[in-house]
Amino acid sequence: MPDKKDYYALLGVKRNASKDEIKAAYRNLAKKFHPDLNKDNPKLAEEKFKEISEAYEVLVDDNKRSRYDQYGHAGVTADFGKEGFSWQDFSHINDLEDIFGHDIFSDFFGRGSIFSDFFGTRKWGFEKPEKRVKSVNIEITLEQAYRGISSEVAIPHMKRCDVCNGSGAASGTTPKTCYKCNGKGEVQQELLQGFGKIIKIGACPVCNGSGKIIEKPCLNCHGKGEIQKLDKIKVKIPAGVSNGTTLRITPDKSGGRLKEDIYVIISLKPHLIFHRQGNDIYIEKKISLTKAALGSKIEVPTLDGNAIMKIPPGTQTDTLFRLRNSGMPNLRTSGHGDQYVRIIVRTPKSLTKRQKELLEEFERIENEKSS
Ligand SMILES: [Zn+2]
Ligand SMILES: [Zn+2]
Repeated sequence: MPDKKDYYALLGVKRNASKDEIKAAYRNLAKKFHPDLNKDNPKLAEEKFKEISEAYEVLVDDNKRSRYDQYGHAGVTADFGKEGFSWQDFSHINDLEDIFGHDIFSDFFGRGSIFSDFFGTRKWGFEKPEKRVKSVNIEITLEQAYRGISSEVAIPHMKRCDVCNGSGAASGTTPKTCYKCNGKGEVQQELLQGFGKIIKIGACPVCNGSGKIIEKPCLNCHGKGEIQKLDKIKVKIPAGVSNGTTLRITPDKSGGRLKEDIYVIISLKPHLIFHRQGNDIYIEKKISLTKAALGSKIEVPTLDGNAIMKIPPGTQTDTLFRLRNSGMPNLRTSGHGDQYVRIIVRTPKSLTKRQKELLEEFERIENEKSS
């Protein structure tokens, strides 16, 4: 591989240049190497354009720039393909649009071989967005997670805009058929690869795959032709869910209200007394010095109401007692986790005269016992 040029030198900026300075430098150079102004040597212009664009790709990105500053070209090679930087690695097509206007791409298309790579970038960069499964978040309490609940969630969905009847064009105007793809929404490109030819098909870069060009967008939907509405559906949340449990709701389960699957992601509100670890629940319970010494029956809260727990005589502070099967239900199998009760022995803070006398007597007997 030939020695690579320094990115800062390529853009003609100092090593401590601000982002604005980098942008301005790229802007000027991009204009300089535009093919329209380099008809005598388009190949060289293309090469130069690619070089400064690679430098720009790295320097305008804080992360890439800092790796480049530390390790030089080696710090960023992994960001690009095996053959090094190609237009497909360029993520600032929008900046070029700002510089040259939208015509830049139709220009390049018309030009055939010049910037043919570009066609690739543009195309792969603008493929129709992948269909993503929608998700909504719902926050519930630990008690609700313990019992399971049926809850309403609002599912955003896109509905045809009533103002433009889905055309996306302002009233009185109509969308025009895209000149680039003739309304098909996709374009083909023949690529030479090795000894053969491959044809790649991608979303039309001019109309972004819609096949239409809207000159005056509808004000209601901003040219999208659809607007977001909320659909309320009932979701059954099973007992035992935890923070992050994700439920997949199919159109079937939604009672016909959904057209596609959605994910409902559950988050649990923190609880003041109960702390959950897996399916076990932990709580702290304060008891008096005398109850700890004499043993007692105490009432402790559980997710299923109060329970009576027996404390043996001589219970020390910090002792952990277990209430079997009083924890969270198992989401997938039957059964429950346990509840652990940590005993905190409280030392009395204010004593009556009588209590003081009794404790002093208690202390005397303790001393006699030990001597
Ligand atoms: Zn088109
Ligand atoms: Zn509209």
